[in-house]
Amino acid sequence: MYDILIVGAGPAGLTAAIYAARNNKKVGIFEGNVPGGQIVVTATVENYPGFGKVDGPDLAYSMFEQVMNLGVELIGSYVSEIIKTENGFIVKTEDEEFQAKVVIIATGTSQKRLEVPGESDFENRGISWCAICDGSLYKDKVVAVVGGGNSAMEETIYLSNLASKVYLIHRRQQFRAEPHIVEKVKKLENVELVLDSVVEEFIGDQSLGKMRIRNVKTGQERIIEVSGCFEYVGQIPATDFVKELGITDEAGYIQVDNNFETKIENLYACGDVIVKNVRQIVTATNDGAIAALNAIKKLS
Ligand code: NAP
Repeated sequence: MYDILIVGAGPAGLTAAIYAARNNKKVGIFEGNVPGGQIVVTATVENYPGFGKVDGPDLAYSMFEQVMNLGVELIGSYVSEIIKTENGFIVKTEDEEFQAKVVIIATGTSQKRLEVPGESDFENRGISWCAICDGSLYKDKVVAVVGGGNSAMEETIYLSNLASKVYLIHRRQQFRAEPHIVEKVKKLENVELVLDSVVEEFIGDQSLGKMRIRNVKTGQERIIEVSGCFEYVGQIPATDFVKELGITDEAGYIQVDNNFETKIENLYACGDVIVKNVRQIVTATNDGAIAALNAIKKLS
């Protein structure tokens, strides 16, 4: 039996693991993908204290290495179900079952899709959700980025250094992203802002070749020629595996109290997966620390 099982090895889960392991608890952490969460697919992080500017994968690896050096067990699987028992929890993966006194959920979010015609045809054949993974395929080519949040801005900057031209398509005039990063994007010579506009269709043959875009104010349509399109239109919480527990809100985010405990005793949640306003690396690490310290207090 583990003292604490953590589901998800992004900044929240990794921080929870650091605090739990340093308190001599038997800790396991599940990760079905690459450890590090969203920062692994973030080109550059510029707002994590102590690191003026750091590559996302480097920051993720430092956090992960710190956790492994503390003797935390990495379980390389996705969790499919969590069951409450009399003494704790059973955590199920596709092939195995694990038992723990406390479970901390830190599964974060995954990228939302536009869900327009042609999207499924050109998924990974022109359409991508990860500029840092796929950007190099579009060296000196024309690409589009869709979205107006921090992710869209950061990845537009990254892609503008590789592609010959980047269309930044956003459905309104104002950007949700922080003003200073919007200013940086506006200064880039090879970025064309396509505002008040939505994607109507992805078009191509073997791979993506064109996008049909509609101006929502004028109704006018336009076809742009692109080799790639990167969608950054927000996030959806990764909580399918806890649907039955009744701990999420109507959007699927997990509801927790001030101690980061859900309404099920000894089941905690932290990071981007919970109901909250600010989703940043620092707020994820904050949540992870508090969840773990409260869990430790309960255990002792
Ligand atoms: P986000 O902030 O939710 O922005 C999503 C963007 O996509 C919005 O501009 C939204 O438009 C647009 N959008 C949503 N659905 C759309 C649709 N169907 N068609 C067209 N456009 C659509 O998402 P994010 O950029 O992924 O960021 C997620 C969270 O992580 C945020 O809290 C963000 O601050 C944080 N983050 C922080 C950093 C950083 O600080 N370095 C970096 C990345 C992410 P509207 O604005 O019109 O709704």
